[in-house]
Amino acid sequence: MKLQRIRWIVLGAVFVLIVVGLISSISMGTLSSFGWEEIAAICPLGVLESFLAGKTVFLRALIVLVVVVALVFIFGKVFCAWVCPVAPVRSFTEMMRKRFGKAQGKSAPNCSEDCSSCAAKRSQIAKRSTLDSRHIVLGGTLLSAAVFGFPVFCLICPIGLIFATIVVLWQWLGLNSISWSLLLYPALLVIELLVLRKWCLRFCPVGALLSLLSLPNRFFRPKVDNAKCLREQGIDCNVCVNVCPEGLDPHFKEGMNECTKCGLCKDKCPVGAITIPFSATPNPSAPTIASDPGKPE
Ligand code: SF4
Ligand code: SF4
Repeated sequence: MKLQRIRWIVLGAVFVLIVVGLISSISMGTLSSFGWEEIAAICPLGVLESFLAGKTVFLRALIVLVVVVALVFIFGKVFCAWVCPVAPVRSFTEMMRKRFGKAQGKSAPNCSEDCSSCAAKRSQIAKRSTLDSRHIVLGGTLLSAAVFGFPVFCLICPIGLIFATIVVLWQWLGLNSISWSLLLYPALLVIELLVLRKWCLRFCPVGALLSLLSLPNRFFRPKVDNAKCLREQGIDCNVCVNVCPEGLDPHFKEGMNECTKCGLCKDKCPVGAITIPFSATPNPSAPTIASDPGKPE
């Protein structure tokens, strides 16, 4: 089974688990602060915000933070691709946007094909630095918590907004209870994901924090078999670069702390040259080396 399929199953299972826990009151909180009785998993950004807001360190939150740091050390930024509900919601809004664009006669890019936008993206890869605009948002998030004494960003965090939207929808449809939140939460979410379309790449402070914690991560990184890779044999192939949502080139170490282990590069490589440790064997349907690299699968 392709990693993409497994990833969608995991994403769906986590989402359903939390939504069922929320509306049945079995569990508490959302992905940002999910718990059951004495066990709680708190967003690492929320932990840091609470430390700064309260001007104190809470032992339980500190333990959570240490566990998160250890998990990120091993698995890197997997949260962004395998757990965070923003990714599928963004995929959905992008799909709608492309459909709408098509209806207006605009061409929607096919991510498997090379184009000027992909070429521009490739040219930016070399320039990608460890710190970017997300880290400025991260700094502002932490500063605002210290100044105002409460985690300000949590009010507009899209992860929380997604679950808040589901809760108000449930209250409306299931309990017949209507409030202004029914308009407010989805409106904020739409603004963040449609207006700030590059939310994950440019603005998300959670991703920024995870990218810093992922710097020492060396596990589960995609590896390219140069003997199979078309580019290494002089064929102009950039499929892996073009499909990477993080704008990475798995041939290089630079910026790989941003890798979310989504597996898209592995699934789309036309010759199965990419492997990710502990994932399934390379794409068995990969065409031979003589195939057109611009049209995988
Ligand atoms: S998609 Fe595969 S063959 Fe093409 S450049 Fe990447 S690793 Fe090489
Ligand atoms: S390098 Fe591959 S696995 Fe990592 S984020 Fe990019 S497409 Fe996903």
